[in-house]
Amino acid sequence: MSLSLAERAGLIEPSATLAMGAEAKRLKAQGLEILDFALGEPDFDTPANIQEAAIRAIRAGKTHYTPPAGIPELRQAVAEHYTRKEKLATEPGQVVVSNGAKHSIHNALMAVCGPGDEVIIPAPYWVSYSDLVKLTGASPIVLETTEESGFKLRPEDFLAAVTPRTRLLMINSPSNPTGVVYTREELEDLADAVLETEVGVLSDEIYEQLTYGDARSTCFASLRPELAGRTITISGVSKTYAMTGWRIGWSVAPPAVSKFMADLQSQETSNPCSVSQWAALEAIVGPQDSVTEMKAQFARRRDYVMERVARLPDVTCAPPGGAFYAFMNVSRHFGRSLSGITVSDSTSFCMAALNTARVALVMGSAFGAEGYVRMSFATDLETIERGFDALEGFLAG
Ligand code: PMP
Ligand code: GLU
Repeated sequence: MSLSLAERAGLIEPSATLAMGAEAKRLKAQGLEILDFALGEPDFDTPANIQEAAIRAIRAGKTHYTPPAGIPELRQAVAEHYTRKEKLATEPGQVVVSNGAKHSIHNALMAVCGPGDEVIIPAPYWVSYSDLVKLTGASPIVLETTEESGFKLRPEDFLAAVTPRTRLLMINSPSNPTGVVYTREELEDLADAVLETEVGVLSDEIYEQLTYGDARSTCFASLRPELAGRTITISGVSKTYAMTGWRIGWSVAPPAVSKFMADLQSQETSNPCSVSQWAALEAIVGPQDSVTEMKAQFARRRDYVMERVARLPDVTCAPPGGAFYAFMNVSRHFGRSLSGITVSDSTSFCMAALNTARVALVMGSAFGAEGYVRMSFATDLETIERGFDALEGFLAG
């Protein structure tokens, strides 16, 4: 008899972003040249001052278990960031440091959702949201938004979706995969709608520092005094400081929620990596010039991507105000034969682009938005230029 899996195993798929990233790497390992825009992770090295802080921590013997919710210095620094910069009075006890923002989201959902509950997720959404909700036994209620409305959830659509079972609304601005950044006023309207209900909010602000032009990110919990008691804010160092491999993210939540999340972590991982926590502390409190430099490079790439997308035939794309993604509508090409392959949906489009043009993108269906493909521009300009040249050839048929 073989060991059978729990029912839970049928609830989730492997992360499509990681899967496409792995497929691109597999082809590269075979010696093929792949223009890789699949994975959303900065191509920069972690800044030198952060590397040095980690080396110092190792040499100083900071290599033991830490408190489950993180080292006090880091929790304090995160709390100060929200208190000072976002004007959201935050106690270190409300901060739980986890193994990446993805882990923080998982723990947060475990804290507040369970079987029978509903969680409202505006689509397009980041690939892991719906599966992480399903793992808790709750049901994702996906609300479509349109390219014409800037992929933004309207308060009236949120209110219409609320039922007595709704526990949470998940929002993500700047957004992965669309790059959309809600204005402060739009989030205030959404906040007022939330406050008409009993619904809590999980606000994923991992791209908070990566905005372009006039776009500014807004800390949702700071918008109204009543929101702090029902909002879980998620962020971390992965994107801002090019630290995806270090696995440090955090949550700021009402004290009882944070206590549960810390207890859960104490049972599940003991603590996030000690050395990474010291590195993250340096990231937050140390010099920020490397962030300014990386952001300037992302802004240049973003402008170039917009220029080139505009020249792609029958492709549209809402200009990203933040993050590092272009979410391109390629649906006008469905039904066509491209490089001898009939393309019928975003998956077949991505597979054809990978196998013939050697361009790795992620299918919109993974983000709850068929008809689109996501390009990460967290890569160098030369690769982006060659990627668009290859895409132009591909779309020419
Ligand atoms: N939220 C969003 C919207 C993301 O794009 C990502 C991607 N990494 C995460 C959370 C997870 O971040 P981390 O790598 O810190 O787990
Ligand atoms: N968040 C990144 C992305 O969307 C990294 C992959 C992942 O964490 O799933 O590509």
